[in-house]
Amino acid sequence: MISSAVASVRKTFAIVLARLPRIADMPGLISLKVDTTEGVKAPARVGTLTDAALRSRLGHFDAHSANEIAAVRKALAIDSGEIILYESWPGLAGCLQFWHSFIGSQIRPVEWTCEKCGAPARESIGGSTGETFLRRCACGQVMRITIPRYGWAETPAAQR
Ligand SMILES: [Zn+2]
Repeated sequence: MISSAVASVRKTFAIVLARLPRIADMPGLISLKVDTTEGVKAPARVGTLTDAALRSRLGHFDAHSANEIAAVRKALAIDSGEIILYESWPGLAGCLQFWHSFIGSQIRPVEWTCEKCGAPARESIGGSTGETFLRRCACGQVMRITIPRYGWAETPAAQR
């Protein structure tokens, strides 16, 4: 965390990152929560990130030192490992906008249907198009899910 003369007009937010349990032999994705209440309530869940999506976010600003980024990597190398980063923002909106809508891996709903029992599933996941991850359905079936291309709703300016 960077403290400076402008820190008084900025707020500090806790970014809570946690490695989800591994499925088969693949590490889980990373759960992203932001503490919007300065510890009064449990942090709000923003979504789930792939490793690449987290890396691009952490590398975007110089807000985190190489040591901090190494600590994140180390903490998240462990199943269910968790680490909290602190970031200073002028307000909550900017903080959430950055973490939620990072260009190239913005958090958006990903939907799939279990190929065994047909149960629908939907999760908010930040990843790049074509990245894959595993999910286990309540019925026990493990499915490989691929982050789809952006649909029209996410890219209103795109030509269809
Ligand atoms: Zn199922």
